[in-house]
Amino acid sequence: MPAIMPWVIGNWKMNPETPTAQQQLTQQLIDHIAEHLASGAALVNLNLAVAPTLLHLLTVQQQLQQAKSAVQVIAQDVSRFAGTGAYTGDVSAQLLANAGIGMTLIGHSERRSLYGEDATVLREKLQAAINAGLKVVFCVGETLTEREAGQAEQVVLQQLDEVFDCIDLQHWQQNLMVAYEPVWAIGTGKTASPQDAESMHAAIRAGLKNYHSSLVDLPILYGGSVKPDNAASLAACANINGALVGGASLDADSFIKIARAFS
Ligand code: PEP
Repeated sequence: MPAIMPWVIGNWKMNPETPTAQQQLTQQLIDHIAEHLASGAALVNLNLAVAPTLLHLLTVQQQLQQAKSAVQVIAQDVSRFAGTGAYTGDVSAQLLANAGIGMTLIGHSERRSLYGEDATVLREKLQAAINAGLKVVFCVGETLTEREAGQAEQVVLQQLDEVFDCIDLQHWQQNLMVAYEPVWAIGTGKTASPQDAESMHAAIRAGLKNYHSSLVDLPILYGGSVKPDNAASLAACANINGALVGGASLDADSFIKIARAFS
């Protein structure tokens, strides 16, 4: 298997509260990266990205670009509808792409549980995103009840299957990533053990082959209370190719420490 370049992605969710705070967080990120580089602790062989609110995608991107930062900007969600039209409140993949935003999350557990996004919606979103040429981080993960019932792997593979099996992904291997985020670990301070996470990642990788052989090398990110003190043990796992980081990404120092663990 060729080496997979890891990704560390910060999901800022509906934070921080003001435009000034968004700007400060972006600046702290720029400054911390500069400090690490200056100390010789290079962040090599690693892709970094942050997902601010929709409202701040472009300003954060502009600030990063002005600082010549390699950190990329990713949308937290995308419309299921393509192009332009009468879809109040939505932003399509094409609008994101036209504005220079090249990536989006799809299927985050908060979108699934709070907004009722099911396989039909997620299929439409994935299709719209890949048609527009966006890179997609597709999120999957089981609840605590499902894990305790011994169904974790079955649930996660089903979440992949009900979306990936219906879309021709043959030419999109460069544009896809999977994020395994056990729902019970998101924002709870509980993390999957490296062994459990690795075992799920290996199962996901084996499952990806079913859609197209080229998908076996997709980056598979882990998400769920990743912190500086547990990042290294996750990063050491063969099938964990990065992290999707919520809470800890709101602190630039923690985020960069996590990033270093994967570089
Ligand atoms: C997330 O929301 O994607 C996430 C992993 O959050 P946290 O790191 O806070 O658990």
